Amino acid sequence: MSDTLDLAVELIRRESVTPEDAGCMDLVIERLAPHGFQAEWLNFGDTKNLWLRRGEAAPLFVFLGHTDVVPPGPLEDWSSPPFAPEIREGRLYGRGAADMKGSIAAMITALQRFVVHHPGHPGSLAVLLTSDEEGSAYDGVVKVVDVLKSRDTVIDWCLVGEPSSFARLGDVIRVGRRGSLGGVLRILGVQGHVAYPDKADNPIHRFAPALHELTTEIWDGGNEFFPPTSFQVSNIRAGTGADNVIPGKLEVLFNFRFSTELTVEAIQRRVETILDRHGLHYELSWRLSGLPFLTRETELVSATRAAIAAVTGLHPRADTGGGTSDGRFIAPTGAQVVELGPLNASIHKIDEHVAVEDLEALSAIYERILGNLLAVL
Ligand SMILES: [Zn+2]
Repeated sequence: MSDTLDLAVELIRRESVTPEDAGCMDLVIERLAPHGFQAEWLNFGDTKNLWLRRGEAAPLFVFLGHTDVVPPGPLEDWSSPPFAPEIREGRLYGRGAADMKGSIAAMITALQRFVVHHPGHPGSLAVLLTSDEEGSAYDGVVKVVDVLKSRDTVIDWCLVGEPSSFARLGDVIRVGRRGSLGGVLRILGVQGHVAYPDKADNPIHRFAPALHELTTEIWDGGNEFFPPTSFQVSNIRAGTGADNVIPGKLEVLFNFRFSTELTVEAIQRRVETILDRHGLHYELSWRLSGLPFLTRETELVSATRAAIAAVTGLHPRADTGGGTSDGRFIAPTGAQVVELGPLNASIHKIDEHVAVEDLEALSAIYERILGNLLAVL
C-alpha cells in the first residue's frame, strides 16, 4: 500500500463528523513532526485547529484543509461502512475519501518527500487544519486568521485541498468564489377593505413594478472568471389570508451572488435607487455572507498549472464555481489562493470514494507545486 493511500485509510477510520476531529490531527503531527514541523493548537470552542510550520522565513506556503466530514446518512444505504474504508475496483470508499481526507493524505506525503529532497528549502511551509469547515465554520479558519494577523504572519500562497476536479484529476482548479449578499425588504402600505382601495395602500401593487425592474436589471456582465451577478428572490409574503383585506405590508427575502465587478456598496445603492424611483416606503436590512475573491494568473496559479500538466498532461480550466470554502477567509489577507483536489462527483453522498491512483497523482502534483514555487527561488 502506498504511503498516501495508507494515510488516507487511517484518516477515514477516525469518525470525525463535524465538528469532531477524532484524532486526525494527532496523526498528522505524528507524520510531520519528525520532519521539522512545529505543531501549535489554536482551538476555539468545540473546534480543533492545528497550525504546523517548518521554517520562519518568507515566503510562506500553506496547505489548507479540514478533517471534519459530513454525517454519513443512513448506514444501510452504504455498500461498505462509511468509517471502515474499503478498496473496490481501484477506488477507496469511505466518508471523507474525496472531501477531504484524501487531499490531506496527499499534502502530508508531498511535504515529507519535498523536505527530504530539499532540507534547506527557502521560505517556510505550513499546514493549517480545522475540524469545523462542514459545520458553522464559526470557530475554524476565520479565528485562526485573526491570530495569524495579530502576529503579523503573512501567507503568500495557500493551496486548499477541496475536491475541485470534475471528470479527471486536475481538469479544474478553483481560483476564486462569488460573493453572497442577502437582503430582507419590507414594503409598507396601509391595510384596508378591498372594496375601498382609496382608503388603503396596497404594498403588493406598489412593489410589482419594482420587482420587475429588479429581476430584469443587468447588474454586470461578469468577467473572464465570473458569470454575471445574479439577483434571486427566495421568499415573498403578504396578505392576511382573507380575500377581502388589502395587506399592510409585504416582505421579500432576496440574495445576490456577485462577481468581482461589483462592490457591496454599489449593489446596495442600485437596489435603493430602484426602490426610491418607485416611490416605495420600505425597510431594508442586509447580510453579507462572503466577499468575492479572485487569484489571477499569479505564480501560484502558474505553478499549479505546470504541476498538473507535468503529472497528468492536462491543462486545467480555472473557475469560480461551487459552494463556499475556507479559502474565503484566507484570500482577504492578500494571499494567493488556489483550490485543487480530487473529483467532486461523490462528495457528501452515500458511497463517497476517490480513485486510488488519483491519491498518488495528487500527492505528486502537490510536491511539484512546492518545487515550482520554492526549490527555484
Ligand atoms: Zn470540503
